[in-house]
Amino acid sequence: MDTTPAFLGLDCIDCGERFDPDHHRCPACGGILDPAYDYDEIDLTRENIETRPFETMWRYEELLPFTRESAITMDEGATPLVECEKLADEIGVGRVLIKDEGRNPTGSFKDRGQTVAMTAAAQHDASDIALASAGNAGQAAAAYAGRADIDSHVFLPSRAGFTNKAMVNVHGGDMTVVGGRIGDAGAAYGDAMDEEGEDEGWYSVQTFVTPYRHEGKKTMAYEIIEQLEWDVPDAIVYPTGGGVGLVGMHKAAKEFEKLGLTEELPAMYAAQSTGCAPVVDAFEKGVDRHEPVTHPDTICGGIEIPDPGASPWILECLRESEGGAVATPDEEILESAIAVAKGEGLEMGATCAAAASGAWKLADEGEFDSDATIVLMNTATSNKDSDVLRSHLMGKGI
Ligand SMILES: *Cc1c(COP(=O)(O)O)cnc(C)c1O
Ligand SMILES: [Zn+2]
Repeated sequence: MDTTPAFLGLDCIDCGERFDPDHHRCPACGGILDPAYDYDEIDLTRENIETRPFETMWRYEELLPFTRESAITMDEGATPLVECEKLADEIGVGRVLIKDEGRNPTGSFKDRGQTVAMTAAAQHDASDIALASAGNAGQAAAAYAGRADIDSHVFLPSRAGFTNKAMVNVHGGDMTVVGGRIGDAGAAYGDAMDEEGEDEGWYSVQTFVTPYRHEGKKTMAYEIIEQLEWDVPDAIVYPTGGGVGLVGMHKAAKEFEKLGLTEELPAMYAAQSTGCAPVVDAFEKGVDRHEPVTHPDTICGGIEIPDPGASPWILECLRESEGGAVATPDEEILESAIAVAKGEGLEMGATCAAAASGAWKLADEGEFDSDATIVLMNTATSNKDSDVLRSHLMGKGI
């Protein structure tokens, strides 16, 4: 495999054993594997990073497992961090900035995870990849698989958005639409992996089955810190489903600290919908693991994850960073998306607006200082679910 010099292999977050880069889950205990590096081997300074053009997340190559040369990439990442002054005034903090991940090749931050996961698949000489997804990850996987000449098998729930389904087809993916929700799509994916997948050597790019999606998404934190001229934001509010990006960004912030590039960590906040808030419930109860939600019901498909397997890790990140968790109802989430679009021009997806409405609620509860700098993650463009936002207006007679 074409790995970077400091990359040591994959560490199990449960038993601590280290494995070769071609593994998925821990062969010893089934735990999640996390790429490990020898940070003493990494010689990065602020000046050195700043000289690199801000045009792809692969500019942080030393902190990624695979070389930029070997990457299956469409120059994803390097997204703008947009100042939102009106929002800052309304929320009552010093600065609010929106990290606009809608400007990725397939319109969501899932591209960051898929570029690294698909590079691993290509290095592994995989002929096929497979995953279940609420929608955006499936669309991104089909796109990157096409680019890598790998066949993709994408399992989506029937409630996935039209754009996601259409684009899986357009990218040439093999799509299975499963009646029901993400758990049903996950079960169909699991069955297929055990049958065709076993025979045909499908390589999984599923959330936290591949060790490489959180590794790609972590680059969002590097960029935010650099875009703020190395001033670590006080809080990052993240619309949380499986928590891939949240644990990734917390890891990245710790890496910058270890390398001496920064001196503190941003407080990480998980934002969910009250219709499906297992992480928020567990955080508030002070427990180390979530209880699965039996009847999830939210319009925010990207974060309708009733049984997030990585919840112990997510909760640890929230507590270690002295952040928190917040849930708001769909009604408020949609209102927030509309308020941001109206007042700031930025098009937040319905799911993503959980970060905006969560930040509003946290601010009302006095969580932020009046001079705080808050970053909201706009994880996908609202082009993907503009119908949802429009019909919310119709519901109000507009
Ligand atoms: C997948 C997704 C999320 C949740 O991401 P995780 O890292 O799995 O928590 C949030 N927003 C959108 C738009 C998504 O597609
Ligand atoms: Zn293990």
